[in-house]
Amino acid sequence: MLNSKEIEKIKELLLEKKKIVITTHYNPDGDAMGSSLGLYHFLKAKKHNVTIITPNSWPSFLDWMPGTANCLAGDNHLKKAVKLLDEADIIFSLDYNSLKRTNDLAELIAATKGIKIMIDHHIQPDDFADYTYSDITASSTCEMIYEFIRAIDEKLSIGQDCAECLYTGIMTDTGSFKYSSTTSKTHQVVAHLIEQGARNTYIHHKLFDTNTYERMRLLGYCLIEKLTMLNDYHTAFIALTSQDLESFHYKKGDTEGIVNFALSIGEINFSAIFIERDGEIKISFRSKGSFDVNSFARNHFDGGGHHNAAGGKGADTMDETIIKFIQLLPQYKQALALHE
Ligand code: 5GP
Ligand code: MN
Repeated sequence: MLNSKEIEKIKELLLEKKKIVITTHYNPDGDAMGSSLGLYHFLKAKKHNVTIITPNSWPSFLDWMPGTANCLAGDNHLKKAVKLLDEADIIFSLDYNSLKRTNDLAELIAATKGIKIMIDHHIQPDDFADYTYSDITASSTCEMIYEFIRAIDEKLSIGQDCAECLYTGIMTDTGSFKYSSTTSKTHQVVAHLIEQGARNTYIHHKLFDTNTYERMRLLGYCLIEKLTMLNDYHTAFIALTSQDLESFHYKKGDTEGIVNFALSIGEINFSAIFIERDGEIKISFRSKGSFDVNSFARNHFDGGGHHNAAGGKGADTMDETIIKFIQLLPQYKQALALHE
């Protein structure tokens, strides 16, 4: 948590109506949107002028979240985003640890005069904000937003909209409360969010029971045609070309979570999905137990994230990226064989 002096200063800042911009990372996920919208609802209730700017759009399966109509995708509304960032008194950076993660917004955010407050749970945060609240043990940025609200507002005023947004991010970033980042405190926070009106069953339904036929077919194709097992290294990966995506009428969000199916195989400790999209190879890494995918992504694929879930990118073609990946595995053979 921020220290008490910092908390007092932020409280003071928020005493009067302020122009506030909330930003989050490129390709925003449930935690990025949940933390941004959760904080948005809290600050709106305090009568601030608040806008959320995401670097690009969010997947449509998150459209139902209360407040998305007030989010601006910066890549489609650049002029407006520039003006808002320029005029902001306070800029929040949520669910990212480096300005690089906001892609084209990075230079704009760096250049603004507003006070910057970063709240994030990723490993190895950069030092770019005036106030940095970093907790790499937190399950999610949403859980940190809950703690932040508790620190600056004695009444802990969380309405239903805020509660549902925070619940969403905690749920998605903990894999529905199963990852090791899930603590008794996480469950206490979630219990309070449900008491505040978060409809847990409704949110699970909105996230997991709204698949399209095309996404299910793409998942089937990945598992039957595209899954490569590297048994010697307890590793499995899936590679999707842009033609693959086209033939399943890909839309944003359709590949979300597919990497976890590869990891769910008993003897697999490390999984990856390579996706050719927007002229680059986007990679997601997942692991079980001790294998550190944050370091792997950071050291080899210009990425990062968490110990068991990270992302990165390949600068080369798909084939070259996969060859590079396979050639890296022998040096990790021992680590990959460990289960817990
Ligand atoms: P995903 O694989 O679901 O896109 O991301 C897994 C985790 O890694 C998330 O916490 C996400 O924020 C982080 N992540 C994904 N891609 C990148 C990347 O290119 N760079 C960094 N630093 N982190 C990433
Ligand atoms: Mn997160």
